[in-house]
Amino acid sequence: MAPSRIVFLMYHELELPGRTLVQSEPGYVRYILPLETFRGQMEWLKESGYQGLSVSEASSYPQERSVCITFDDGCETDLISAAPVLREFGFRGTFYLTSGFLGIPGYLSPEQVRQLDALGLEIGCHSMTHPYLSDLSDQELGREIVEAKIQIEDILAHNIEHFSCPGGRYDRRTLEIARRAGFRTVANSEFHVNSTSTNPYELGRVAVLRDLSIPEFGAICRGRGLWKKRAGVRARQSVQHILGNRAYDKLRDTLLGGRQG
Ligand SMILES: [Zn+2]
Repeated sequence: MAPSRIVFLMYHELELPGRTLVQSEPGYVRYILPLETFRGQMEWLKESGYQGLSVSEASSYPQERSVCITFDDGCETDLISAAPVLREFGFRGTFYLTSGFLGIPGYLSPEQVRQLDALGLEIGCHSMTHPYLSDLSDQELGREIVEAKIQIEDILAHNIEHFSCPGGRYDRRTLEIARRAGFRTVANSEFHVNSTSTNPYELGRVAVLRDLSIPEFGAICRGRGLWKKRAGVRARQSVQHILGNRAYDKLRDTLLGGRQG
């Protein structure tokens, strides 16, 4: 049997009528799906015979046709919008929380985190303050990775095992500190399918953008055309490398308004 290859999808806050998003700049909003768009994608998955899995489930690479469903940042729409849709279709997923944002209006409260966990949905960590990890000192990395893990575990009263990198940025130190802290996987925002041969500390994820059509969404879930997106990301990364993260962000916000993770 061919080895199982699974696409990990990356979502963020969802848009609800009459509810203000936690950020409003175009670079943020392009990663935000209206709830109905998200629901349409889950419906397509169900009708196409896919199962929606958490990171723990997906990283054992079952043979069934499946995608992994992840959310970054810990917005309250994880509980009030995404969770009911996942449950409607019998899917699971993983919610990576930014521990320092919990309780801020628009984000999950600690009580809501416990509710999400009690629904059988998986909780992971997305740092404490959402910095670019590759810009930090070792000491700062410890706070963002190790202390953030403890904060979330204190809320849940059990261990968490999965981490995702804010803005998709990471370096070797990030992965080593995450591994030593007890995380079993680290997800980034690289456009590639994962399989048993993927390093669990470098799980790729595909950002689901607001303007994605259902045929495009279907192609992503089948792992098609990701090399084209990857080529775009490589080009972006080389500009980033030359300019540095901060100068790159300024340029990107001026030109297109973009952001990842
Ligand atoms: Zn994020």
